Amino acid sequence: MYKRPLSKDIPAPKLIRSKRRSIALEIGPDGTFTVRAPHFVAEQAIQEFISRKRKWIDKIYNRTRQQLTLFRPKQFIEGERFLYLGNEYTLHIAQDMYGKLLFEERFILNERYLPDARILFERWYREEAFMLFTLRCKFYAGNMGVRYNSINLSGAKHRWGSCRPNGNLRFNWRLVMAPRDIIDYVVVHELAHLVEPDHSSRFWTVVDKTFKDHREAKNWLKDNQFRLNF
Ligand SMILES: [Zn+2]
Repeated sequence: MYKRPLSKDIPAPKLIRSKRRSIALEIGPDGTFTVRAPHFVAEQAIQEFISRKRKWIDKIYNRTRQQLTLFRPKQFIEGERFLYLGNEYTLHIAQDMYGKLLFEERFILNERYLPDARILFERWYREEAFMLFTLRCKFYAGNMGVRYNSINLSGAKHRWGSCRPNGNLRFNWRLVMAPRDIIDYVVVHELAHLVEPDHSSRFWTVVDKTFKDHREAKNWLKDNQFRLNF
């Protein structure tokens, strides 16, 4: 049954039943495996659905494994590279400097603050992210003729943005590591939800009017999300 691991690398999926109407599989970037199913569907049917999707499951797991081996947590050492707006910048550890963490075509970290490096980097990324999202939302909202209410940052590992019906937007600060056009895509995507709440074809028409290359941007995020981390 679906409660057994599919193979030595693929765990048994976690089953979540709800009021939905169809079965869906989800494989998280960290390798978690979830099946979402309606209350009325028998376990046998869920098992059959998983079997039919086996090729796809294997494909996603292969990619996830590759990405997990490629990703190495940062150690905050001299010469290490950090992403910012799609480019990599080296880290220099300085002994005599004012301030804690600076960015001048490279990252410069005060040696005394090495134990806080991770916190300082996140704070720096968050400040940059907030400035950038504020500017881009203003620009694209004017372009698209929509009004939003507020902008907040989130730190969720793999959710890039969200939009509430009241116009409150939320963006993942990790996106500031991605190229500008990827950031713009996420901004346009969330603003388009102010017009069309669901991912219907009407929604994509709204996105398409302002951001033509949304398919490429979406694929880029899928392929690179493991890099938008440290
Ligand atoms: Zn959406």
